[in-house]
Amino acid sequence: MYNAKAYSVSSPASPFVSASIARRDPTEHDVQIEILFCGICHSDLHQARNEWSGMMPTVYPCVPGHEIVGRVRKVGSAVTKFKPGDLAAVGCMVDSDRTCPECKADLEQFCPNFTLTYNFPDKHLGGVTYGGYSESIVVDERFVMRAPSNLNLAGVAPLLCAGITTYSPMRHWGVTKGKKVGVVGLGGLGHMAVKFAHAFGAHTVVFTTSPGKKEDALRLGADEVAISRNADEMNKHAGSFDFILDAVAAEHDINAYINLLARDGNLTMVGAPATPLPVAVFGLIMRRRSFSGSAIGGIAETQEMLDFCARHNIAADVEVIPIQKVNEAYERLVKSDVKYRFSIDMASLKSE
Ligand code: NAP
Ligand code: ZN
Repeated sequence: MYNAKAYSVSSPASPFVSASIARRDPTEHDVQIEILFCGICHSDLHQARNEWSGMMPTVYPCVPGHEIVGRVRKVGSAVTKFKPGDLAAVGCMVDSDRTCPECKADLEQFCPNFTLTYNFPDKHLGGVTYGGYSESIVVDERFVMRAPSNLNLAGVAPLLCAGITTYSPMRHWGVTKGKKVGVVGLGGLGHMAVKFAHAFGAHTVVFTTSPGKKEDALRLGADEVAISRNADEMNKHAGSFDFILDAVAAEHDINAYINLLARDGNLTMVGAPATPLPVAVFGLIMRRRSFSGSAIGGIAETQEMLDFCARHNIAADVEVIPIQKVNEAYERLVKSDVKYRFSIDMASLKSE
């Protein structure tokens, strides 16, 4: 066991402060990674503030962070995929049972016994797992991905959650050339969804509450932008979408988007507001529309997504911040004031 520098919160209302956490020494299948960048996901904020208390109560102190990119420093004796000096990446999961039908189908994100990267029981050290707002992490090589070396690493980190969470449902629901795709909410997830939908060749429409993001949406690859608070701009698209991805972190009217789906169209929620969203079933019944959800993606698919990004030169648009600005970043995240992901430069932790 060794101590690592980190930033943690000790209650839903307290700010992040500098902390020291325990990490295990690498066992034979483990990789020890020096973290270079860690993205700030809205899920980090939901959990740091215990907003998901019903589903996943937060255990304090909490060290969030599941968009991790770094360099391998040590490997266990049985590790075959990595050597010291390699670039490596870790997302939302650090383990699963590897034997259930979900794991066998490369869908570890649905394993009933998975271990999330933070705020989950730590079977090695007891207590809970600690995430990427830290100088290093130790993870079984099966849950470590190879990171692209041709992209800006600060922009690679967010691919590990915002990237895979949007890539996976679009693959599942067959987003391709000729399809009309909507993206609701131009935040960290939403802006990655636009990049992928565009790369897959779909006609992409962004729905935003922020008129100031219109130009950016077009630059990111959208074909059209609709201001969701404007009824005319919404009605124009009634009954026309094959697929809509909703990445909104707060309560909003989901039926307004169900009504935009064509026959057999699907609306997938990846945004995870803490409170239930009422669904008007007639909107679904009349055109055999479906409403579903999706969680991150499996390890193999995450690697596939990273390789796709390397080939297509896709990374997140990031604002790089030192860890000392994490509290300010959270306040801006609540106000939808980030273009389009904060990425923490972990070198800033050295001065703590
Ligand atoms: P984010 O960067 O804060 O983006 C959310 C966007 O939603 C905002 O930029 C804003 O876009 C829009 N929005 C915010 N408040 C709104 C409101 N009251 N009404 C309508 N639109 C609103 O968050 P994120 O990191 O992308 O995460 C989004 C959600 O996905 C979070 O709930 C997060 O926990 C969840 N998530 C789920 C998974 C999964 O596996 N399913 C994985 C990661 C994250 P505009 O300014 O364009 O309107
Ligand atoms: Zn996330």
